[in-house]
Amino acid sequence: MTKPAMSSERTRIALATLPTPFEACIRLSEELGRHGPAPAIWIKRDDCTGFAGGGNKARKLEYLVADALQQGADVLVTMGALQSNHARQTAAAAARHGLGCVLLLADAVADRSEAYHTNGNQLLDRIFGAQIRFLAAGEDGVAVAAETMAALAAEGRKPYFIPVGGSNALGSLAYREALLELAAQAREQALALDHLVVATGSGGTHAGILAGVEDAGLSCRVHGISVSRSSEEAGSIVAGLVQEIFALEGRERGAVAGLEVDDSQIGPGYGQPTAAMIEAVELVARTEGILLDPVYTGKAMAGLLALIRSGAIAPAETVVFWHTGGAPGLFAYPEVFGG
Ligand SMILES: *Cc1c(COP(=O)(O)O)cnc(C)c1O
Repeated sequence: MTKPAMSSERTRIALATLPTPFEACIRLSEELGRHGPAPAIWIKRDDCTGFAGGGNKARKLEYLVADALQQGADVLVTMGALQSNHARQTAAAAARHGLGCVLLLADAVADRSEAYHTNGNQLLDRIFGAQIRFLAAGEDGVAVAAETMAALAAEGRKPYFIPVGGSNALGSLAYREALLELAAQAREQALALDHLVVATGSGGTHAGILAGVEDAGLSCRVHGISVSRSSEEAGSIVAGLVQEIFALEGRERGAVAGLEVDDSQIGPGYGQPTAAMIEAVELVARTEGILLDPVYTGKAMAGLLALIRSGAIAPAETVVFWHTGGAPGLFAYPEVFGG
């Protein structure tokens, strides 16, 4: 067997404070156990990656920005929703490395308040000095991105494009490494992991975790809680990314094992609040003093609570919630909380 290339051989800049903490949620587990036995809940704190307010994109950007620098880029171009955490962290990474940053942002979440348009990540993008181009309703983001890249090149700039959520093979690879980090922390605690729950958006985080579970030889189930797409659609994106991660190292993959996407928490749509999300955000804040977010981790935690309540995660089992950050998004939804 050929030895897989280790990630340290790949260039990577340092942005995140690693390893992130791995903690038991004692009071949350106790609260859920008030009406009968409940599983042990642990949390992987990638909200604490530190850089620019934290979150999962810091890990991905360590690989993506390294690649951009290696290619001699002088401006990063990426896209996302108006309250994209990925856009905020990309703007900060560009600033940190003296690169320009163009954000193509779509106002894709209907009926949001003034705060959604001005506060949260939107405010932070401006503070980090990003150049923001808002997409008009119905405008084709991929076409605008191509035009933007061409226009920058015509000005003599060297633009580097990062896809939505930083989810290409290189960005997703960071989460294979993150899973190996978690596996080491679980071993230190002599903890056997039965379930892992994570938000699935553009899919790279989920894909990297699956690749890592395979490489670490773990048998835990990975539940991706979709925040936007049907299980089928998200599943095919994640499976494709898993294959791309292995392909980066010349390792072929057929069908991807252990792929589970739960689309029961989306509600009316991406970025649209649900009662279960609000309950989850307030419950974790009030038992653990930990902030989730309205778009990703609130819905993922709602998914975890539903899996416990349905018995799909049994009381004798251990579940890890992968906190992927996003708390700046809370300030874009002030009307939703604290009722
Ligand atoms: C981007 C993001 C996710 C989803 O990660 P993907 O790799 O895009 O699936 C989850 N949580 C937060 C807070 C995010 O910003």
